Amino acid sequence: MKIESRLAQIGSQEDPATGAVSFPVYQATAFRHPKLGQSTGFDYARTKSPTRAVLEEAAAKLESGDRGFACSSGMAALQTIFALFKQGDHLIVSLDLYGGTYRLLEKIMSRFGVTASYVDTNDLDALETLRTPSTRAVLIETPTNPLMMITDIAAVASWAKAHGLLTIVDNTLLTPYLQRPIELGADIVIHSATKYLGGHNDVLAGLIVTKGQALSDEMAFLHNSIGAVLGPQDSWLLMRGMKTLALRMERHEFNSVKLAEWLDEHPAVESVYHPALPAHPGHDVQKRQASGSTGIFSFRMKDARTIEPILRHLRLIAFAESLGGVESLLTYPAVQTHADIPEEIRRKVGVDDRLLRFSVGIEHIDDLIEDLGQAIEAAGAEIGGERA
Ligand SMILES: *Cc1c(COP(=O)(O)O)cnc(C)c1O
Repeated sequence: MKIESRLAQIGSQEDPATGAVSFPVYQATAFRHPKLGQSTGFDYARTKSPTRAVLEEAAAKLESGDRGFACSSGMAALQTIFALFKQGDHLIVSLDLYGGTYRLLEKIMSRFGVTASYVDTNDLDALETLRTPSTRAVLIETPTNPLMMITDIAAVASWAKAHGLLTIVDNTLLTPYLQRPIELGADIVIHSATKYLGGHNDVLAGLIVTKGQALSDEMAFLHNSIGAVLGPQDSWLLMRGMKTLALRMERHEFNSVKLAEWLDEHPAVESVYHPALPAHPGHDVQKRQASGSTGIFSFRMKDARTIEPILRHLRLIAFAESLGGVESLLTYPAVQTHADIPEEIRRKVGVDDRLLRFSVGIEHIDDLIEDLGQAIEAAGAEIGGERA
């Protein structure tokens, strides 16, 4: 069955007792046992809960994995994954990383003796240089946010496999609708489902999908033992959002490509980072391993003084953190999402004070271009009369 059909049908045929097309919210945390030694398959909701189980099964299938685990946030999912590692273990991680993941590694995992090195994960020589006998895994974000750096997942996964390392891919930006890392050789996929999977800026959730029996069993043990699981209401809300994922991603992509092309021609803009633009260095790899682009891209203004007035003059597009929802949001990474990353690293990758990150929503493209256009125009007028 095609992925569009599977998405639309999530949970729709899972409740034979009533035939409910929208799978019910089972709020129960305890489940009656028929008799000693017997179970309905449900004992206690942290271990397994009916509404969450339908979501987890769907996630595993969508990502072509063996098991899915729903967590209370993307960070909870990452923390659960990082519990695979022990004191002395070393990870190799994408350079232009989600700020919260960097914080978790540097401020928390470091206390437990787990260390990380940050590198452009597309550079296999650099990966090999960083590898030590203690290295256990490589964690990739592709595309990265905000700089849209693309990593060849199959190349890294086969390198990792040859050295006995796990490949973990944060697939938040593309979703299984556009990219399925396990099919390319990854062992673990993680999602901030708060973003595109939920899609409406109204549910905080994380998902883990594992490939392989031993790894799946270990993750089930960690998920239950740590307990950062997703509640039934939020599991339901997430499935409700995922049903329309295919339609939403199509519109996000259409709008983001149009806006990127428009900004690329704008005299006030220095550069645009969008993998759909042929000049983007990751264009060919992304085209090969993903079936499309996401709604996220970044652009750098020529003049840093325009940033503050642009954000102030926006009317339709919201100046806000987060990404992946139906509403367009513009973020200033240097002071918002990436504030926890030291300035030295930020500058090295290019997250400077002229960079803006767009999470393009599903509004009409004409309205988005008009709003951003008037904001840039007004900013230009403010900083000194000349065009910004
Ligand atoms: C948002 C995000 C996270 C963290 O997820 P939360 O749901 O906010 O905890 C992790 N990785 C990426 C790429 C993200 O965008």
